[in-house]
Amino acid sequence: MSTHICEALVVSCIDFRLQKKIQKWLSKNFKNKAYDYVGFAGASKDLKIILKQLDISVRLHKIKQVVLIHHEDCGAYGKDSTPENHARDLKKAKKKITKLYPKLQTNLYYLHLDGKFDEVK
Ligand SMILES: [Zn+2]
Repeated sequence: MSTHICEALVVSCIDFRLQKKIQKWLSKNFKNKAYDYVGFAGASKDLKIILKQLDISVRLHKIKQVVLIHHEDCGAYGKDSTPENHARDLKKAKKKITKLYPKLQTNLYYLHLDGKFDEVK
């Protein structure tokens, strides 16, 4: 098998309302860079599933960065889709990822329905 590496793994929700906005943001922020992309309802809400994908990206594509994108009005969160809950889960995911893969840089984002990205620190 040939070696093929890329820069990052990007994880976002499946929600169709956001795909064009995410693509636009990625084409600006990952210009000329390749990345793996995972769409899963609630993004990193079900962290176990995302960690499986992440492990494959790390092993096969030697990624250096993980980008987690949660969003406003997420159906996978229902009534619990508040900025606070998303920030809590994003930070929890980052903590776990950093523990498992200390060399990876993890960036967290909360995407508003109007297309505005807020970085969660
Ligand atoms: Zn969603």
